[in-house]
Amino acid sequence: MADLTDLTIAGAREGLREKRFSARELAQAHLDAIAAGNEPLNAYILPTPDRALEMADAADARLAKGEGGALEGIPVGVKDLFCTKGVRTTACSRILDDFAPTYESTVTENLWSAGAVMLGKLNNDEFAMGSSNETSCFGACVNPWRRAGDETPLVPGGSSGGSVAAVAARLCLGAVGADTGGSIRQPAAFTGTVGLKPTYGRCSRWGIVAFASSLDQAGPITRDVRDAAILLGVMASHDPKDTTSVDAPVPDYEAVLGRGVEGMTVGIPEEYRVEGMPEETEALWQQGIAWLEAAGAEIREVSLPHTKYALPAYYIVAPAEASSNLARYDGVRYGLRVPGEDIVDMYENTRAEGFGPEVKRRVLIGTYVLSAGYYDAYYLKAQKVRTLIKRDFEQAFEDVDVLLTPTTPTPAFGIGEKSGDPIEMYLNDIFTVTVNMSGLPGISVPAGLSKEGLPLGLQLIGKAFDEETLVRVAHMIEEAAGALPAPENWWSKS
Ligand code: GLN
Repeated sequence: MADLTDLTIAGAREGLREKRFSARELAQAHLDAIAAGNEPLNAYILPTPDRALEMADAADARLAKGEGGALEGIPVGVKDLFCTKGVRTTACSRILDDFAPTYESTVTENLWSAGAVMLGKLNNDEFAMGSSNETSCFGACVNPWRRAGDETPLVPGGSSGGSVAAVAARLCLGAVGADTGGSIRQPAAFTGTVGLKPTYGRCSRWGIVAFASSLDQAGPITRDVRDAAILLGVMASHDPKDTTSVDAPVPDYEAVLGRGVEGMTVGIPEEYRVEGMPEETEALWQQGIAWLEAAGAEIREVSLPHTKYALPAYYIVAPAEASSNLARYDGVRYGLRVPGEDIVDMYENTRAEGFGPEVKRRVLIGTYVLSAGYYDAYYLKAQKVRTLIKRDFEQAFEDVDVLLTPTTPTPAFGIGEKSGDPIEMYLNDIFTVTVNMSGLPGISVPAGLSKEGLPLGLQLIGKAFDEETLVRVAHMIEEAAGALPAPENWWSKS
């Protein structure tokens, strides 16, 4: 029997139904891989082996009766931003300490109701603020990929660094991530995985630790496009507990795969050709255009003139919302409490000790841009810019079905290489934040290797609630690009 950890979700689904192996065997194979290889990667910050085996046995019992949901027996990992009932949830911040929620996030509840098996909680940047997973209170997560002939540890991207590292390193079949400015797509591009940020409102935000509520959205991270379609179909739902979740039927995303791109119009936004972008990123983009053209799509140049304002506007809107959302961590109700002389002193001590430097930076920026006298100049202006960015996309989508861009300007970088310079770190998201600012869906699909042998991703941006076109076109690109090799396993003890 081939290694069970090398299967796709679709392959495992078939194997389980045909009883070639049991859900327990599948879970055990992953738990063994985690035990042997998680330490150097630091992808899981809390494996949950007992729960995994219990869930796997329950899945086996259902499968034996010919029952079972869409993900029956499929082992997955969960970003630590999602509340999991009775299981420590920290958002990788010291301030949440050993907080164990009394409820389950809707997205993870959907997974368990469909029969999925939880392997554990995955590393991320503290409160999902970051692009490298270096701001986690549990320490950096390491990319399973390395440059050819070079052992320098690389970042997996962020903030969903643990999710992508676990998927790439075969420590789960799929994972859930969340994306506020690029946190699913940028790390997917850095690790040769598929990452999909759905339309704002497609998945419920209930039970996800809030960063910037008008931008946050959950999505799947998988090893191929079909698996992303399968996982999204289960994660997406209308949820009365999240008033921004949309009451629209969830399509069968898998059904559109293989339909090709003949007759589609693909837009190429000229503003995404940024200064200093490496030649290989441009070459990959051109390659993507050539694949689509060869498959019968029409290519059209489009303009998104306000693109250059997206990143600065994002770094006003996101910190503003974060400063408001993070006000609840005061030592009273959750996690850490550091005593003080009086209650204000206790608040201050708790927040000073509980938050890391990047989170403090965001809280300070956010409080500043929302304060009287600066609100109009910063926050209100950024909201207006956001409307213009959204309008750019609406106009572009009058002429095209989908947009193609690189996911990131560069491949994965070394740990510590950019952590001293916030602006350089923020530039990672230059192609991804526009999508959150406009609420649209985006997917990153692995499309090739850099000259140093690292994965590179292409991003597709779709119309609101048109994830079907995203997976359909991404599937075509995946077929044209061919599967990337798995990263060489240097992390396992045996
Ligand atoms: N890297 C971006 C930030 O630091 C986006 C993070 C995210 O999508 N959660 O804000």
